[in-house]
Amino acid sequence: MEIVFITAEMEPFAKTGGLADVCGSLPQEIVALGHRVSVFLPKYRSVSEHKYSLELLLDPIDIPVGTEVETGRLYGGRWGDVNVFFIDQPYLYDRDALYGTPMGDYPDNDIRFIFFQRAVIESLKKLKLKPDIIHCHDWQGGLIPVYLKTIYRKDPFYKDTKTIFTIHNLAYQGNFPPDSISTTGLSWDEFRYDRLEFYGKISFLKGGLVYSDLLTTVSKRYAEEIQTSDFGCGMESVLSDRKDELVGILNGIDLKEWNPAHDPDIPKNYTAKTIERKTECKLALQKENKLKVDPDVPLFGFIGRLSSQKGIDLLEPIIENIKKAGWQLILLGTGDDQYQQRFREAARKFPQHFSAHITFDGAMAKRIYAGVDLFLMISQYEPCGLGQMYALRYGTVPLVREVGGLVDTVTPYKARSHKGTGFRFLDYTPQTLFKTMKKAVQVFQDKEAWRKLILRGMECDFSWQASARQYVDVYERAEKKTISDSSGL
Ligand code: ADP
Repeated sequence: MEIVFITAEMEPFAKTGGLADVCGSLPQEIVALGHRVSVFLPKYRSVSEHKYSLELLLDPIDIPVGTEVETGRLYGGRWGDVNVFFIDQPYLYDRDALYGTPMGDYPDNDIRFIFFQRAVIESLKKLKLKPDIIHCHDWQGGLIPVYLKTIYRKDPFYKDTKTIFTIHNLAYQGNFPPDSISTTGLSWDEFRYDRLEFYGKISFLKGGLVYSDLLTTVSKRYAEEIQTSDFGCGMESVLSDRKDELVGILNGIDLKEWNPAHDPDIPKNYTAKTIERKTECKLALQKENKLKVDPDVPLFGFIGRLSSQKGIDLLEPIIENIKKAGWQLILLGTGDDQYQQRFREAARKFPQHFSAHITFDGAMAKRIYAGVDLFLMISQYEPCGLGQMYALRYGTVPLVREVGGLVDTVTPYKARSHKGTGFRFLDYTPQTLFKTMKKAVQVFQDKEAWRKLILRGMECDFSWQASARQYVDVYERAEKKTISDSSGL
């Protein structure tokens, strides 16, 4: 099959979170199963044509934006086994960040991603790259299925193309004022509650949910959760209406990239057989963070976007308890300005127990995954979550909230039966979090039980293989759909 990915992030070109990891590794796995994959993303400032040996392929591409026609350019190159294409329009994408600043989103994100999606549709035609499947990711790709079933419905080029829409995070919806409809070029007929209208706005995400041929999301548990009002972010009825066309496929991780045996970013390499060497990573990390260097002090880690989703509101109140207990916590993250400031302040207040890095640093993330004893993933909701899987791979014990993909990837520790790979809690309160941390520390102090727990975690298989196969099954299922049974319409 000829498969085209539409995404706003891809490792190593542009990343703010797990979407980049998935779009960096899944396409390679699909190629390994015998298909061709091309990935399209905007040419952000971080995408250097020199660094990645990109070529200018199309100049100009004419893109209809509202009633105007604007022009862009297309760069292309190879990354591993996949073709990568970048839509270039400096006034839209050559900026400091992908979506906005800590103060908020860029106000023209609607135009930025309308332009992107229409440019992809037009570029594919110019390249004569006829996809069997267009696989769209999150709201930044949500209009593609809409365009294919409206403006391009009669276009012979796209006659046999089917669309898959993957929800990586339902809370990010790409909702814009109704006027954006004019910029999309779509008819005002689309501004209906059973199409793109969402509480008085136009929702790009809803476009993907309603119009794609099949839907997927990134864990089985999240696929169920998002059909309920607690997790559905207002889209629950759209999703439950299409429940037979919504498939939960757990994200995998790139086992080559994330391997403590060969990782060049960590101070000492180790495997399950040489797990005692992991202690050297811990001691180096404590030293780097100016914390007391002591293998017996429980060391917790947190890496993630500083947004309320990630359970930050639970973390902040327990920093003082961590200090009182004599433990240590290292945080790495960027995000909402208020959280950034509060964590900087807490790090100044408790320097011997809490270290905060308000930055985005992939190598430091690896030193933390390798060096800490326990990794906190305490999200309000979590579609899949990658951090807990990286932690397990690096012999670090995850302590997670019982939601979404965290339930599908971390099994609770059972002392008597010597089972489980981590610690879990449900109540979203700092008290319950701290109680669970205390329970984990008790086990940490039992060196033999702890070692066995670590080794069970390292045995988990989070490779992409099984999941990539499930995606191919979904593509094949979509291909069999006829126009009349296509989409939720
Ligand atoms: P989400 O996609 O919701 O942000 P995931 O757990 O799925 O969360 O993926 C987050 C990814 O981003 C992981 O690879 C994590 O290590 C990485 N990450 C998050 N924040 C940072 C940071 N400040 N520096 C380096 N890597 C980070």
